[in-house]
Amino acid sequence: MSPYHANLSNEGYVYTKEGGLVSGLCTYGVIKPERHIRQGDDGNVWEAIVIGAGYAGLIAARDLVKAGKRTLLLEARDRVGGRTWSAEINGTTFDMGGTWVSHNHGRLFAEMQRYGLKDDISATRTENGGCDYFTLDTGSGSRKFTHKEAAAMTAKAWNIFIDYDGNKGRTICPLPYSTLGNSRVSFDQVQAVDQLSCRDRIEQIKDQLTADELALLESIVPHIGGGSVENFGFLELLRAHALQNYEIATFEEVWTLYKIREGQSTLARRIFDDATRLGLQYSFKTPIKSIIEKEGVISAVTTTDKNYRAKRVVNTIPIAVLPDIHFDPPLSPLRQEAININQVDYLTKIHAEVVGDLRGLRGCTWPGDFLYVYGDGFCADGKSTRITSFAGDNRGILDPLKEPERLETALKRFHPMEIKKVVFHDWVSDPYAKAGAAWYPAGFLTKYLAELQKRHGNVLMANADWANGWRSFIEGAMEQGALAADVVLNEVGILGANPAAPS
Ligand SMILES: Cc1cc2nc3c(=O)[nH]c(=O)nc-3n(C[C@H](O)[C@H](O)[C@H](O)COP(=O)(O)OP(=O)(O)OC[C@H]3O[C@@H](n4cnc5c(N)ncnc54)[C@H](O)[C@@H]3O)c2cc1C
Repeated sequence: MSPYHANLSNEGYVYTKEGGLVSGLCTYGVIKPERHIRQGDDGNVWEAIVIGAGYAGLIAARDLVKAGKRTLLLEARDRVGGRTWSAEINGTTFDMGGTWVSHNHGRLFAEMQRYGLKDDISATRTENGGCDYFTLDTGSGSRKFTHKEAAAMTAKAWNIFIDYDGNKGRTICPLPYSTLGNSRVSFDQVQAVDQLSCRDRIEQIKDQLTADELALLESIVPHIGGGSVENFGFLELLRAHALQNYEIATFEEVWTLYKIREGQSTLARRIFDDATRLGLQYSFKTPIKSIIEKEGVISAVTTTDKNYRAKRVVNTIPIAVLPDIHFDPPLSPLRQEAININQVDYLTKIHAEVVGDLRGLRGCTWPGDFLYVYGDGFCADGKSTRITSFAGDNRGILDPLKEPERLETALKRFHPMEIKKVVFHDWVSDPYAKAGAAWYPAGFLTKYLAELQKRHGNVLMANADWANGWRSFIEGAMEQGALAADVVLNEVGILGANPAAPS
């Protein structure tokens, strides 16, 4: 049982035939009261301001207050977690954004350990659950495979696709946390690979694949990164493959199997509560419109023109939202160029509660409004199943806010089902995300990644969108928050337990 009460957020949607589309779902992530700034501190220059209460911001804020720094957290939403949050509906948890965790994510598991959640894991796939097969529908009718057969087809296609260097990616990407050149591979070698889109790479190998294998490969790319094989850089996938130990067999275990049982918001909430216990002050529903630095003091100006000042700012606003923020001094031309190009992930993630046992369900419809579906355990009533499905970039094709009834039709293509409700967060129309996790087009990483990671004066830029390791994952957000807090601590000053040694 979660120790938290789920409060109503203004985010998230539920659609039923009877009730239509209703916005606002309950989550442990909503913070009440929304503001806690001690009177004496308001108006002062903070040692640090953290903008954004996603995982990057939460880790940064927690680390800063733990080291005794006067820190203020400013967040536009009414809740913690950013692109990772879970909703509670009649006892069933729905992870609306970031969901799956893995022991390959060391920082994340360290946080789960710290907050007593390391064993609090549930699995998405239920072996021997109802409908325990894989549906593949490539337009010429729907066929059923065993999970083993489908996994073997995907693995064959993926292994050929990824084997660009004849060494399963090890030659081009020997150290995935330092992808852009290291002691074993030069920047120039990596840059050459970075020019390839996934479509370019598929053209090189497609003759070696059957039509079904090709369909599984072409659909898994937008499933992973929300874009299309045309606008998705191949280097990103090579790097992701390296991060999971050059092994497609572990794809499911690392990407889509293990979840925090009571939802991601329980972890985000624990980090936040720890930070407030240590003195973190905060203001939710506080969107920032400008970040201005003058004579070493930074002003974070809200959309209602309130001005918060600090010696350092940790800015965790995602790349897709940065165009809305006015920076003075302005961002570098190279960073501005990167922001204008932007990322490519416009995925849709939709849950449904369906009648009966579909816990074993898996499938891929390609081409289609949805790409993949996962049976995702029983709902709280023990009789209906939660299913989770993903679409790629469906902008202009299927807008869940305008035509929610079409979600049902698309889901039924995987399997006949009686849908009780559909639950989702529309990341594309969300003003504080504007897209999903960040994946980039060909040529982007070698040109812009290092620039995105740079500080902007005394503003540290920290977000999973430009992490070194598990970029576009919760793990990457935690990496970025921890690194930024460390820089701030070193500059603003840490009081160690013993006096510093005389120099
Ligand atoms: C659908 C989906 C599925 C995913 N699945 C997984 C998964 O299974 N596993 C995994 O590890 N990762 C997954 N991810 C990725 C993961 O969720 C993100 O990489 C991670 O949550 C990003 O954290 P962050 O703190 O860097 O950024 P964010 O979570 O985006 O945090 C930034 C914060 O800044 C706030 N903000 C934005 N603009 C302003 C403003 N103007 N003023 C004040 N505050 C502002 C936002 O509200 C937000 O709270 C998924 C993402 C999505 C969208």
